[in-house]
Formats: sequence, structure tokens, C-alpha cells
Amino acid sequence: TGHEPDNRTWRRQTLQPVRNILIVGGGTAGWLAAGFLAKTLGTQGGGIAITLVESKDIGIIGVGEGTFPSIRGTLSVLGIDEGRFIRECSATFKQGVRFNHWVRAPGTQGADHYFHPFSQPSQRPGGPELLPYWLLGAAGADVPFAAAVTMQKHVADMSHGPKRIGDADFMGPLNYAYHFDAGAFATLLASHAQTLGVRRVEGTVDQVKLDDAGAIASVVTREAGELTAALFIDCTGFRARLIGEALGSPFRNINDTLFVDRALAMQVPYQRPDAPIPSYTISTAHEAGWTWDIGLHERRGIGYVYSSRHTSDDRADQLLRQYIGPASDGREPRLLKLNVGYRETQWVKNCVAIGLAGGFLEPLESSGIGLIEAATYLVSYLFPYDGNLAPAAKLFNAQMKARYERIVDFVKMHYCLTQRTDNAFWIENAHASTIPESLREQLAMWRARAPHRLDFVTDIEMYPPSSWQYVLYGMEFPTRQMAHRAALPEVAAARREFQTIAQLSQHALADLPTHRALVEYYRQGG
Ligand code: FAD
Repeated sequence: TGHEPDNRTWRRQTLQPVRNILIVGGGTAGWLAAGFLAKTLGTQGGGIAITLVESKDIGIIGVGEGTFPSIRGTLSVLGIDEGRFIRECSATFKQGVRFNHWVRAPGTQGADHYFHPFSQPSQRPGGPELLPYWLLGAAGADVPFAAAVTMQKHVADMSHGPKRIGDADFMGPLNYAYHFDAGAFATLLASHAQTLGVRRVEGTVDQVKLDDAGAIASVVTREAGELTAALFIDCTGFRARLIGEALGSPFRNINDTLFVDRALAMQVPYQRPDAPIPSYTISTAHEAGWTWDIGLHERRGIGYVYSSRHTSDDRADQLLRQYIGPASDGREPRLLKLNVGYRETQWVKNCVAIGLAGGFLEPLESSGIGLIEAATYLVSYLFPYDGNLAPAAKLFNAQMKARYERIVDFVKMHYCLTQRTDNAFWIENAHASTIPESLREQLAMWRARAPHRLDFVTDIEMYPPSSWQYVLYGMEFPTRQMAHRAALPEVAAARREFQTIAQLSQHALADLPTHRALVEYYRQGG
């Protein structure tokens, strides 16, 4: 037919092996990818030559202070020890996110906050899964899901840390991520990647040259001339200089689902040098968006993320100052305009986008760095050594698109389950027309039964099933469990388990240091 592979030649393609990579851009995405690929692909003795070119005139975005627990695995692969990371990045421990006023507006009767912890619900080997029993009321009438199934909420509420002094790097009884200074993190990653053999070039890319097949032939820089490679990685942030400007991969705007498109960010000192440091991000819902409040070692980073369709920059400034109080006097916030969405095709020919060049959803649940990690793992483990780029690109694109879609659903779930009707932002967020069909379908199923691990294809999910459960039931989602009681025979065992978790939560405080003490231990060389 002429459309089938030629039986004699399909095995014998003439390909150019990939021996070198050029990364354009030196923010968190560029340097994290550089270090990770150097470590996993190897740069020495016949390895892959990795060069990173960054502009000294165009800065990095310099925000992105909250992470997900996957970051511990990444730091460990990179070979950066936990103490150095904490000292150099002003880092603190993050055990989850506290959501204030997301379910209902201030002043309304009912719970005013819920917690999304990183630790999974406890489950004894051979013991029952606790969620269905919690739904039956076996933990007690008013015990929130997160408090019933893990001791982490209690530990974090009491300002204790997730691990003991002396626990091994990146290990602890409770699951955790970090808060850190984004600028300092990029600097640490840059110096570490160079010790792993990455070559740094200073240059601003002014022109991108394409070859006859429409792939990138070279980039032309103002300071360092023309640079070429077999594989280009676009880490130029929102500019998307290669994947967007040069290759025209379309950007899918998702502002009709996720409304926030601006941020006002400010850094303020603690009131007292020994003030407790919250070991979670505080996310507070407001009239047209939400504030993040992140405690680093020396300062707090606070920002209001809002929808420009629902409020003005002046009102946002006023609201941010009200939230912060007198510490905001005399300080000017930084305004950031966000491109909310992603490219459905992030690997085109010989160019892969990682970081903001590929897409950005919004800061809720800190997906930015998690997506950088995911894209970097994929490039590393699918690496087309032989130059056979198209199949790797196809797999990469399918997985990243699926990942983005799942994160959109997860983030949107925080908004659309609200009971707030105090203004248009919240009313529209709960309107069916703004909710992706995939999410509507899942929520419909979960009205009659609890979400189960099998609802999720774990390899493409950034957030584990437990995160979905914590948010669903934190948002007071009404699952009217229709399973017959005979399908849930272990009520007594579940009740005992809930009691054990409550007792352990008390004991844990004696075992785990305060969060500030834990951070100080690392800062003093621990
Ligand atoms: P950038 O930091 O913008 O780096 C771009 C790089 O490209 C720079 O080095 C620049 O010099 C270079 N460059 C650009 N053009 C050229 C050119 N022509 N030639 C040469 N070099 C060039 N993520 C999280 O994980 N958690 C969070 O809590 C979080 N909060 C966020 C809050 C806000 C308001 C925003 C906007 C983002 C947030 N993110 C968060 C996302 C996170 O900040 C980014 O994913 C991360 O910083 C990676 O950025 P980047 O490296 O892709 O881009």
C-alpha cells in the first residue's frame, strides 16, 4: 500500500547518536535538569556533554518556595546533602498545606480550615483501609479525616518537625517536603551541576536557526556566538524562546478553569527572631483568589494570587497588606503576570521544554517544581541515545499532557467544592461549565463510594490518592457510601486503629523536636 513499513529497511535507520545537550536558561528548571541529567547520564568518559547557556540580563522568576515530597528523592539523586541544602537555601520543613476559609467564608458557621498532610493514612499490614470506616463515623462524629488517619496534623499544629534530630538525610517518621529561597536554590543547583561536569556559558539567545526539517540547528547568542547540539532543552521560562517563539508549539490557555492569573508577592521579617516557624504552607482563601504564607528560616514569603477578571491590582494590594499587617508598611510587593496553561506538545523535533517554558498552572499545591522533576526524569529515563527522537518525544508528550490534565483536575477540585457564595469568583468556580468533564465524572462516582487507589493511574499522577482524599473530605465532600455494611465488616478494628493514631499523636510530640529546633540543628552543621 505504500503506508506500511518497508520490511527490509525498518530496522536500519541511519541516525545520529545524541552525544551533547544544550540547555537554554538557568532558573530552577535549567539547573535542576542540568544536574540531574549530568548525574544520571554521566558527563565523563564517553558520557553526554551538557552545556547550559544563561542570560545575565534576563533574571530568573525567583518565586516558587513550596515543594512536594518528591524533591527529597531528587536532591538525594543529585548528591546534595540535607544539611547543606537547608543552610544554603534558608530552607524549612513542609508537612502539608493548611487551607483557611476555602470551604466557607469567614464568619460563617462551621470549620474554618482543613489540612492536607503529606503522610499517607495509616494502614496496618492486613488491617482495614480507614477511609470507608471514617465515612461510616467510626472515628467519632466530628473528627476531621486528616486528624483521624495520621498524626501529622497534630504534630504540625503543635509546631513540631517531621523527623528526629539524628535521623538519616531525607528520612523521618513523617513525610515531608521543604520551603526554601528560590534564588538561593537556583544558585546551589548551578554550582553543584558544574561540579558534576556541566559547562556554563553566559549568553543571551537572540536568534534560533532551524534546519531544513524544521528542527533546531543552532542558537545564536549575543556574547558567546553560535551554539549547537543534538538535543536542546528550553528552560527560558515564560518566554519559551525555543519551543514557543521558534517552533510555535501552541499554548493551551486554561484560564476558563483556573482563574487566577496574577500574583503580588512580598517578603517580610518575623516579628521575633525566635518566633515559631509553621511547618506547612498557609493558604487562605479571599474574595478573588488566595494568599500563600511560607515561613523560611529568616523571613516569611507571602503572596496574593488572584483573578484579574474578578478584582483590580489596587484592591489586591490593599488585601495583601491587610493580611500581612504592619510588617507590610514601607514595602512594595512585586507584581507577576501568569500565563496559566501549558503546551500540549512539549517535545518538538530535537527540543524539549522543561519548567515554565512548557507550562504553569498556578502555585496552589506547588506543582511547578514537581513538573520540572517529572519532565527531567522522563528525559533521563527515555533518553534517545541512538538519535531516535520521535518515539521518545511521543511518549514524553503523552505523559506530560496527562500529568498536566490530572493536576488541573486536582487543583480545580480545591475551588469547585467550595460552599462560598460571597462573590462571583467563588460562584463561578463552582459552576459546572468551568469544571473539566474528567473531574465531574470522578466526583459523580465519589458521591456513592470512596475514591480508591484504582481510580488513579499512579505513574502519571503527581498527587497520590491520599492527597485527593484529604482535599475532598477537607472540603466536606458528601460521599454517601452506598456499600452494604457486609462489605465493611471491620468496624471494631478500624475503631481501635483510630484510637491508636490519636494516642500516638500525643506521644509523637515528645519524640519529635519543635520545627525551629530541627532547623537550627541543621543550620549549626547537623
Ligand atoms: P525562570 O526562573 O524564569 O528562568 C528562565 C531562565 O531563562 C533564566 O535564567 C533566564 O536568564 C533565561 N533566559 C530567558 N530568555 C533567555 C534568552 N533569550 N537567552 C538566554 N537565556 C534566557 N513552583 C513550585 O514548585 N512551588 C511554588 O510554590 C511555586 N510558586 C510560584 C508562584 C508564582 C507566583 C509563580 C509565577 C511561580 C511559582 N512556581 C512555584 C513555579 C516556579 O517558580 C517555576 O516552576 C520555577 O521557578 C522554574 O522556573 P524556570 O526555570 O522555568 O524559569
